[in-house]
Amino acid sequence: MVERDLRARGIKDPRVLAVMEAVPRHLFVPDNLRAAAYDDRPLPIGEDQTISQPYIVAFMSELLELKPSDRVLEIGTGSGYQTAVLARLAAAVNSIEILPSLSARARKLLDGLDYKNIEFKVGDGFFGWEDRGPFDAIVVTAAAPKIPEPLWRQLRDGGRLVMPLGAPGKSQKLIRARKSAGQPNIEDFTEVLFVPLRGAIQQPSP
Ligand code: SAH
Repeated sequence: MVERDLRARGIKDPRVLAVMEAVPRHLFVPDNLRAAAYDDRPLPIGEDQTISQPYIVAFMSELLELKPSDRVLEIGTGSGYQTAVLARLAAAVNSIEILPSLSARARKLLDGLDYKNIEFKVGDGFFGWEDRGPFDAIVVTAAAPKIPEPLWRQLRDGGRLVMPLGAPGKSQKLIRARKSAGQPNIEDFTEVLFVPLRGAIQQPSP
């Protein structure tokens, strides 16, 4: 998978490639889908949610430009697969999931694998995790029409935020927003298809 789907498709960061090699994706997919765990595609994980495809996990991780001393905020724990990848690339990961059952399952799995630098929370990731910020990097693994304002505030200057941007039902663009002197410097990358970010962002504004 690492050679065929990641290196051949342009993932270059040696730390990301090594981590993708080391994290056993089959543990994060339902038992009946284990045979497909190393195919480069998303798979269902229950509750209408999916584990992201390996290429996208690697690409988003690369775009975050993580240093071993970084603190990362992840919105959308899901299966916990991307969480595990981030935890091996950074010093600390704070991961928020809106669905309690998915958060509990990921926590149990990652605790069992002995990850000690991850903190989990059940809640609406739109609001971020104020008392753990500011973060060096933020990754959102569900799509929204715009960057949630609280997340932007919790990104430190020089930090990177990576997420799929797009209106519901439309195609989405993977973007990286770098904060420099408080201002966003936005680059777009490939088209992607993520589940929508739920919660506050879906409420009509008053
Ligand atoms: N990166 C994960 C999950 C991707 S699916 C993986 O690869 O397994 C996106 C996840 O975001 C789902 O688990 C969904 O429940 C969660 N999610 C959706 N809206 C959210 C919100 N507002 N706050 C936190 N998590 C949210």
